[in-house]
Amino acid sequence: MTFTLAIVGRPNVGKSTLFNRLVGKRLALVDDQPGVTRDLREGAARLADLRFTVIDTAGLEDANDDSLQGRMRRLTERAVDMADVCLFMVDARTGITPTDEMFAEILRKRAGHVLLAANKAEGAAADAGVIDAWGLGLGEPIRLSAEHGEGLNDLYTQLMPLADAFAERASEDAPDTDVDLDEDDDTDEAAPARKPTKSRPLQVAVVGRPNAGKSTLINRIIGEERLLTGPEAGITRDSISLQIDWQGTPMRLFDTAGMRRKAKVQEKLEKLSVSDGLRAVKFAEVVVVLLDAAIPFEQQDLRIADLAEREGRAVVIAVNKWDIEEDKQDKLRELKEAFERLLPQLRGAPLVTVSAKTGRGLDRLHGAILRAYDVWNRRVTTAQLNRWLTGMLEQHPPPAPQGKRIKLRYMTQAKTRPPGFVVMCSHPDKMPDSYSRYLVNGLREDFDMPGTPIRLHMRGQS
Ligand code: GDP
Ligand code: GDP
Repeated sequence: MTFTLAIVGRPNVGKSTLFNRLVGKRLALVDDQPGVTRDLREGAARLADLRFTVIDTAGLEDANDDSLQGRMRRLTERAVDMADVCLFMVDARTGITPTDEMFAEILRKRAGHVLLAANKAEGAAADAGVIDAWGLGLGEPIRLSAEHGEGLNDLYTQLMPLADAFAERASEDAPDTDVDLDEDDDTDEAAPARKPTKSRPLQVAVVGRPNAGKSTLINRIIGEERLLTGPEAGITRDSISLQIDWQGTPMRLFDTAGMRRKAKVQEKLEKLSVSDGLRAVKFAEVVVVLLDAAIPFEQQDLRIADLAEREGRAVVIAVNKWDIEEDKQDKLRELKEAFERLLPQLRGAPLVTVSAKTGRGLDRLHGAILRAYDVWNRRVTTAQLNRWLTGMLEQHPPPAPQGKRIKLRYMTQAKTRPPGFVVMCSHPDKMPDSYSRYLVNGLREDFDMPGTPIRLHMRGQS
């Protein structure tokens, strides 16, 4: 199984140069049907051990100036829709232009996974442009020189975890994507939640503000495993992640502190820690939001926790430096109260206290990660859901805007990771948010899905 990467960006940034480098002589397919402009090139790409399909949005030079903007937009949108991952390329020598901003906007709205590359980055003349690229809010730019073949290792590092995730998705999630109303899925009643396997580690990101203790925590986990398993046993590390068997669970930990150090741009620390946290969140299945017990739930913590929820990740809140706290009982009560008040969207997510320094609480953290992952994978059968829905409707009937009651007819779980549900109803557009919230909260309670993001779609019947 492979995935599709689209290289997008304005003309002349170096897309074709990279395309040619990735494809070499393996150009497989050119869009040359009669009447179709040859504006999307597709080829079989190779990067170290990765094999994938690459799409290049070349051929725009031919357009006259008036239509360029519009064509560029349409072409990019088409490429984005075809691709699993977009590589957004900017020119580090010219810096960020308004056209680049327009692309960033399209990608933020439309694309699932976006990698940012600052090309033509050979030599010091590109430094300013690379730093500039951080401002696009798409995470750490990969310093690339397509022409000189530099930075391909960083591209590889960023693609690899995605490639893993897509391979996994293709083999296991495919039947989840569509809602089949005739399906009788009562048979999956006892289907166990999917467990991470040897071949595919659980992807965990440790995120949090600078100095929360992310590096200390990760080093402590590695240290303890080494004590058990011997030096370096089973631990592999690259610039953004490390793979480890933590208490027998294969995990890939994304180390956002490490990513930040790599950037070495001191004055932009605050901004960076948010954007590289963002990247880690996109890679992860479970996000551990690490707080400093002395200053918990600061604005930045809330933002990253909210982001993890919106991205649909399983979330664990870990409160670090618990060794310093004197009145632990009171403090814990305070924390739980603040958690409920400030992050209602994550109600029920595990909150654990740890000390990265002494190692206390790491067992609890390990357990909480597995539990959160489990809930995130939960599946409820259609029969159970519809019995439940009947009860919910009786208890609290849906509203009747303009005297016409909204009818909820049928409900099914369309996906897991996180759990997503579809309700077939009349007038889905008139359904007030409060009623959706009532259903989501009910699902949480009655099917034991605390803390995980739950998606609920109302769909009209045609
Ligand atoms: P596209 O329009 O985005 O596909 O851009 P091209 O790949 O056609 O490249 C535009 C120009 O930039 C060409 O003259 C390339 O030789 C040049 N170019 C591409 N990559 C690099 C690079 O890494 N460094 C430098 N200095 N020039 C590059
Ligand atoms: P990062 O920026 O999130 O990676 O934070 P670091 O791991 O670099 O830790 C920041 C500071 O907090 C360092 O001085 C650590 O020694 C300290 N620290 C980290 N974890 C703990 C802990 O559990 N207890 C105490 N007392 N200090 C800690």
